[in-house]
This record gives sequence, structure tokens and C-alpha cells, in this order.
Amino acid sequence: MKEIVVWAEQKENRLQPVSLELLEKARELSDQINGSVVAVLMGHQCRPQADELIHYGASRVFCVDDPCLSFYQSDLYPKILARILSDISPEIVLIGGTTIGMDLAPRVAAKLRTGLTAHCVNLNIETIDGKDQLIQVVPGWGGNMLVKIICPERRPQMATVRPGVMEMGKPDKNRRGVVIPVAAGVSEKDIKSKTIEFIRDSSEDISIEEADIIVSGGFGLDSAGGFALIEELARAIRGEVAGTRPAFDQGYIPEFRMIGQSGRTVKPRLFISVGASGAIHYTTGFSKSKVIVGIDKNPKAPIFDMADLGIVGDLRKIIPCLIEEFKKEDPQK
Ligand SMILES: Cc1cc2nc3c(=O)[nH]c(=O)nc-3n(C[C@H](O)[C@H](O)[C@H](O)COP(=O)(O)OP(=O)(O)OC[C@H]3O[C@@H](n4cnc5c(N)ncnc54)[C@H](O)[C@@H]3O)c2cc1C
Repeated sequence: MKEIVVWAEQKENRLQPVSLELLEKARELSDQINGSVVAVLMGHQCRPQADELIHYGASRVFCVDDPCLSFYQSDLYPKILARILSDISPEIVLIGGTTIGMDLAPRVAAKLRTGLTAHCVNLNIETIDGKDQLIQVVPGWGGNMLVKIICPERRPQMATVRPGVMEMGKPDKNRRGVVIPVAAGVSEKDIKSKTIEFIRDSSEDISIEEADIIVSGGFGLDSAGGFALIEELARAIRGEVAGTRPAFDQGYIPEFRMIGQSGRTVKPRLFISVGASGAIHYTTGFSKSKVIVGIDKNPKAPIFDMADLGIVGDLRKIIPCLIEEFKKEDPQK
């Protein structure tokens, strides 16, 4: 039986949504290769989450419950996961592209001497030379095209996927599965650098993923001296501010407001993109928005290929006009 393993990330004994999204994807892939879905869960007192993983589609859950694992530790987690994967020799391993997943996945791939494709935007199976291959789709070559990557020689085929990219399935409490307790086989002395506490950044209390309206700025805002204009626009329409990677690099937005392949994936009712060219790395983060408005001075900018409404012109002229109009609608703002 070919197995597809999902690494089930939990924080404070709450499963991270990306792991449940990956379980649904794993179920779909397993149907194509006649395989089964396995989850690996690590933590302390995390046994109840194993049942949840079964409800979301895992037929077997390897559960490593140990006080050493109450926080993610870069020394321990990759070592234990690589050991379990070596024992079960799965076809495919899927890991959420979270901060922790991005630390874990390459370490495990290196230990298993296999390939890893980071931040896939789609996954499917194709038969190539008579062999089922995981097709790992990522934006490539400057973000102007989607590229398919395969790992033909080595197993497992490993991929990370950012939160929100895949759809989460519905839990079914009638699903039955097996929970297999696994000894951690490590101790405190195996930890060279230790995570002792997570301190919550209160600015991240705003969930950009839940925003109904988002105004997102790109490097073009540099011409306006920064993000003040789109912050005002966002206030006028009760939206949240977001941006592209260059906007983050310039210090205009914090990282949790960055949209795209290596940022957040959002699906608001209205997404207004201002002064951003529309590279796939960026658009992949909001392509499922209900209505997309693009504003850019370059009429050939790729953003206009996907926008429902495009406005070509200088943002320094367009945005103040929009703010003025919206304020007429809602003078309180
Ligand atoms: C592996 C990888 C992952 C990546 N992940 C991400 C990601 O998650 N998110 C992301 O955003 N990027 C990501 N990138 C970078 C991405 O490829 C693009 O480089 C980036 O999205 C471009 O950002 P931008 O549109 O703000 O800048 P630019 O491409 O420089 O576009 C600026 C736009 O502003 C317009 N403009 C300039 N002045 C004005 C004005 N006065 N009025 C109106 N328009 C104006 C220009 O016409 C231009 O279209 C990634 C790249 C790689 C290689």
C-alpha cells in the first residue's frame, strides 16, 4: 500500500488548519494511487488530536507524546519524523509551509536524502514512464509561469504547502482509524538549542485571512513615499492593509500582512491591488477573492489579466479620488 504522510502540526495542542487542509489533499491523491493517508503527530498530551486527524481522513496516526516535545524543537522534531518516515517508507510527505514547517521540512528531506518542493500551489498525480509521480506545481522563473516539479528517483516525494492554499474537508466522526503510539527515543540532552517560550505578537491578533475587504500595495507605492495613501483608502472602505514582498522588504507592512506564495493566502469579498505588477508569486495568494480590482500605471502589467476591474494610471492621482468618493458615501471615515 502506497502511503501519503501528512505531518500534523499542532500548537498548544490545537491542530493547525493547514494540516487539515493537507489531509483533504492527501485523501484526494491517495484515491489516485490507491494508497492510504497517514498522519504523524508530535507534542505533549496530544493524544486527543490524533482522533481529530482520523475524523479528517487519516487512517493511521503515529502519535509521539513526550514532555520534550511540548514546543517545536529544531533538533528533535526532524530527527523523530525522519526516523518514522524511514520505517514506513511512504510515497509522499506533505508538510504545512508554516514557520515551523519551513524549519522542519528541509531538515527531514536532507536526512532522508530526497527532494523537497517548497510552497506548492497545487499537487496532483501523473503517470510518467509507467510510474505515478507527484506533480508539484509552483510559480517559477520570476513568477511569470507555473512550473511542474517531480522527484523521479528518490522517495518520499516531499512538498510544503502554505496555509489556505488547499481546501479543508469536513470532519466525519464516524471515520475509524488506528492510533499508533511511538516512543520519542530522545531526551533533553539531545537538545542543542532549546525553544523555551513562544511570545505572542499582539499585532498579529488581526487575522488578515478573515478580512472581508483588503487593500494591498506593491512597490509602486514607493513613488508615493510609502503606504499612507492606501492606509487611508483602507480606512475609508473599512478594509485591511496588505502588500507584496517588496512592500514588506521596504518595511511598509509587517510580514503577516504579506500576500502570496511565501506570505498569506486570502479570499476576501473585495481585493484591491495598487501599484503591484501581478507576479504569480503574489497573485497566487488572492486569486480566489470574489472581486479583484487592479490599479497600476502600466497597462501591460499582469495584474490586469486576472483583475475583474482594472484602472490604468498613476496611483498618486487615482487613490486620492477614490478616497474622496468613498468619504462622500461614509463621511464618518
Ligand atoms: C520563491 C519566491 C517567492 C516569492 N513570494 C512572494 C510572495 O509571497 N509575495 C509577493 O508579493 N512576492 C513574492 N515574490 C516576489 C515576486 O516574484 C515579485 O517580485 C513581487 O510580487 C513584485 O512585487 P511588486 O508587484 O510590488 O513590485 P514590482 O513588480 O516592481 O511592481 C511595481 C508596480 O508598480 C507600478 N507602479 C510604479 N509606480 C506607480 C505609480 N505611481 N502608479 C501606479 N503604478 C505604479 C509599476 O508599473 C509596477 O507594475 C517571490 C519570489 C520568489 C522567487
